Amino acid sequence: MAKMMSCFHQLQVATIAVLVFVVFPSIVQADPDMLQDICVADLAAATRVNGFVCKNNNNVTADDFFSKELANAGNTNNLMGSLVTAANVMKIPGLNTLGVSIARIDYAVGGINPPHTHPRATEIVFVMEGTLDVGFITTANVLISKTINKGEVFVFPRGLVHFQKNAGYMPASVIAAFNSQLQGTVSIANTLFASTPPVADDILAKAFQIDNKEVTEIKTKLAPKT
Ligand code: MN
Repeated sequence: MAKMMSCFHQLQVATIAVLVFVVFPSIVQADPDMLQDICVADLAAATRVNGFVCKNNNNVTADDFFSKELANAGNTNNLMGSLVTAANVMKIPGLNTLGVSIARIDYAVGGINPPHTHPRATEIVFVMEGTLDVGFITTANVLISKTINKGEVFVFPRGLVHFQKNAGYMPASVIAAFNSQLQGTVSIANTLFASTPPVADDILAKAFQIDNKEVTEIKTKLAPKT
């Protein structure tokens, strides 16, 4: 009987999977699908579409699909002790309409990539060097976290708040892939405390249950350096 129930359960799961992947493909696609082989972004075009206008194929070169952006470690000498170097459609115009992009993240000892979300992409990271404490928080407010090491992979589902911390004694680095040509990043602390124009102090004070003086203090610390 238990076996039959288990079979039934598997059938249910399979049915749901088919519905999700076949009947409602848009649910599992981040970027819209492409309508031609290539559509190299004309980043300078005045016309705006969802994505970028394609440049003339006669002017397309291999360099439109190439980047050496990630070859070198980023400079982590900053407030958070980390740097994200992105190779998305803004750097690789050939990614336009392809629905993928890549980045590398470098972390100083003790460095963090502070809590943030990507509104348009799921992220999957591969540890090149070091040990990281990583995690994301579901909409049910459950923290899913783990310590990951060189050669290991971790996934941050689309839209969920996530972070990484270098938990080792050496600099660390990861390669991050996204299912969007331009994943977008909302860095929680910066978004709330360093926007232009600023979010009103009383809103932040009440939201975080702190006083206005503490709000000012955080705003000062996170203010972009000029
Ligand atoms: Mn991320």
